[in-house]
Amino acid sequence: TVGPVGSSVIPIVNKLQDIFAQLGNASTIDLPQVAVVGSQSSGKSSVLEALVGRDFLPRGSDICTRRPLVLQLVHFPARPDAPAGESNEWGEFLHLPGSRFYDFSDIRREIQAETDREAGGNKGVSDKQIRLKIFSPKVLNITLVDLPGITKVPVGDQPKDIESRIRTMILSYIKHGTCIILAVSPANADLSNSDALQMARVADPDGSRTIGVITKLDIMDKGTDARNFLLGNVIPLKLGYIGVINRSQQDINFNRSIKDALANEEMFFRQQPVYHGLSHCCGIPQLAKKLNQILIQHIKTVLPGLKSRINSQLVSVAKEHAAYGDVVDSKAGQGVKLLNILTKYCEAFTSMIEGKNNELSTT
Ligand code: GDP
Ligand code: MG
Repeated sequence: TVGPVGSSVIPIVNKLQDIFAQLGNASTIDLPQVAVVGSQSSGKSSVLEALVGRDFLPRGSDICTRRPLVLQLVHFPARPDAPAGESNEWGEFLHLPGSRFYDFSDIRREIQAETDREAGGNKGVSDKQIRLKIFSPKVLNITLVDLPGITKVPVGDQPKDIESRIRTMILSYIKHGTCIILAVSPANADLSNSDALQMARVADPDGSRTIGVITKLDIMDKGTDARNFLLGNVIPLKLGYIGVINRSQQDINFNRSIKDALANEEMFFRQQPVYHGLSHCCGIPQLAKKLNQILIQHIKTVLPGLKSRINSQLVSVAKEHAAYGDVVDSKAGQGVKLLNILTKYCEAFTSMIEGKNNELSTT
């Protein structure tokens, strides 16, 4: 079974956070945001949901995502003394402080209701965010952003310039150098017309933070396949492509579960000889894996900076103490000890990601 995105990185980040807490230091590792871009109904919300492993986003063949949804996953350890049957996963909206949503279909209903409150009931789009936190012991602290898709022809209450408004909104999220872009394109349309890849290229010209996601491999024209897309032969991307199969509208209508959908996806790839040999770029689990590798790489890059920040803090504390002529310098002494732990940790971490060692140990 697949854990939600980032779950394999949780032990690493937890350990670092423990160290910072002991140092009385508020600094944490800021993980990059992940945003989905693409045209309407390309499968963006479906991909995010599958990555989180819970059903809670409005999806459908019509325009569903009409406001940016900023989804903060919050790692919240299960209470060991919790009464049996108490759920340790819930959602909380910024606009409804204090209300916990334990039923994820209520979360979806609230996203829909709150979308209507701001953007009206008639297909209007607004750039005002909906902010939702999901607390769970199974997730990593990471922010995912679900964005409205690019549409070309105004419908309902949409203004004439709907396309450029949506593009501006999307760019305001993906232009940040720390945002990982999931550029979602359906396999049943020509990749060279992909809005997702076009927008991603504007925000990330050298493609260093764009992952191509090809959806709907199950409904391509008979006799065609996405092999060349996935291999990057059509439009090359540094981080490559992953092909996925999400739930169809019929699956949604019949309330098919994510677990079922993943099993179905796996079976599809197994039964299609054209995708054999491409298993590294097929399926939601591979997408989660690719994201995890990027997160680990990110941690690896920021660790030395964190170390030197802590180091210089210790130096200044030591100087301060020397100026006061302290004899027993307990705080600085403790700091040095923790710095040693962190140093050992970095070594252990490096050898772990280099595959020499699967265990993290700092003792
Ligand atoms: P979004 O507008 O990009 O967020 O797209 P949604 O996730 O809401 O999906 C749009 C429609 O496409 C829904 O009816 C989904 O069931 C359907 N869909 C998404 N991905 C796939 C896929 O891989 N295969 C099939 N058959 N349908 C899909
Ligand atoms: Mg959507």
